Amino acid sequence: PMVREHFLPEDVKAPKIIARLSANENPYGPPQSAQKAVIESVKNGNRYAWKEMSDLVDKISKKEGVPVDHIMMAPGSSDLLEKVALVLFMNGGNVVSADPCYMSLIKVAEAVGATWKAVPCTDDWSHDLKAMEAAIDKDTKLVYVCNPNNPTGTITSGKALLDFCSRVSEKVPVFVDEAYIELAVDADTQSMISLLSQKKNVIVARTFSKIMGMAGIRVGYMAALPSFLEEINKITRGGMGISYTSIFAASASIDDTDFQVTTRKLNHEAKMYLYASLDKLGYKYIPSYTNFVLFPVNLNGKDLLTKMTAKGISIRAFDVLNKPYCRVSIGTMDEMKAFVNALGQLS
Ligand code: PLP
Repeated sequence: PMVREHFLPEDVKAPKIIARLSANENPYGPPQSAQKAVIESVKNGNRYAWKEMSDLVDKISKKEGVPVDHIMMAPGSSDLLEKVALVLFMNGGNVVSADPCYMSLIKVAEAVGATWKAVPCTDDWSHDLKAMEAAIDKDTKLVYVCNPNNPTGTITSGKALLDFCSRVSEKVPVFVDEAYIELAVDADTQSMISLLSQKKNVIVARTFSKIMGMAGIRVGYMAALPSFLEEINKITRGGMGISYTSIFAASASIDDTDFQVTTRKLNHEAKMYLYASLDKLGYKYIPSYTNFVLFPVNLNGKDLLTKMTAKGISIRAFDVLNKPYCRVSIGTMDEMKAFVNALGQLS
């Protein structure tokens, strides 16, 4: 793989963290509406939430324009990435994806015996769709696309990806992870869910953890053909891991479009501030369509983590093609100021 992550040395004592910018969370969530829904629904938590879950699926199916039998729920999209990997690769095979990309699905696939066919991203960190298509062989059981991608924050052109998914899914299922898609501003991007109405074998994962600010409340879903979801359901049932209260929080946050619009706007503003500050400090960065930014730094990952943590800033450190990079999540404006201040003091 092109990417290697560094971790904080164990002997480093972390002071109080003042800006947690390491996990691409939404600093404004969960919305008040979702908090209220959790509080009001908790008293009924002695019951299984069959009916309430089905109401939530109805709502999602209307929002996405697909029938209810095209939706599988889960406590976060991680659960779906892992379930799909477990079921598809329990008898081996290979998975094709870009490198770098988000590794959850691939790690589980490899752990149960699959091979990863990693296809390097292009120079602008988008998916090399041509090379990915060429990498598919008779043992390929899934193509995984993360758009916008993590840890790069970059997008792959919507039209090009639509053509790719449309064509390739005739041969092999294409899983598109759209965890950050709602955060993309002025982006040539679009959801691949529309392909399901043409009966294309695409699987699209979405999460309430990012735009909806519910990373700790845990709700996600995937949209796919019923035949695909049946295969997964045979082995590991969708939806069972979601709590009664989370279902109500998800339902309230879908309706709370004000919260989503505000999140997108504040995220964008804080990111623009970060860009301007990085420019001033002489750092180059990879333009991002998400709530995090990846940029090259001049000191190794361990030192970066140690020094930033000492200042109460939590971030991630990666080597990409053997060069050190910092990945910083977009927090509130105050958190970004604290980050920039700490970065400016690095020697
Ligand atoms: N997909 C991508 C690309 C992510 O970056 C993440 C989390 O950061 C996830 C999926 C999983 O998120 P969750 O399980 O909270 O839905």
